[in-house]
Amino acid sequence: MARQLLQHCSTCNSWTLVRDCPHCDEIANAAAPIKWSPEDQRANIRRKMYDVESQAWLESLPELDKITKLRENSLEEE
Ligand SMILES: [Zn+2]
Repeated sequence: MARQLLQHCSTCNSWTLVRDCPHCDEIANAAAPIKWSPEDQRANIRRKMYDVESQAWLESLPELDKITKLRENSLEEE
């Protein structure tokens, strides 16, 4: 199914509402990027999917070295 109604055929440069271009029988593509919102409407679903309250998820996160270790490394570079 098409992401949005308005489709654009890059072969014959025509606009259409169907996926198959009626002018040249090529495949037309969505005319604009998919709608996007900074407010994450599916955040709850994503949190459930990744099980963010579990210990396994917590341990899967990347972490920096301890600050003392970082300071030692920066002193060694100087
Ligand atoms: Zn076309």
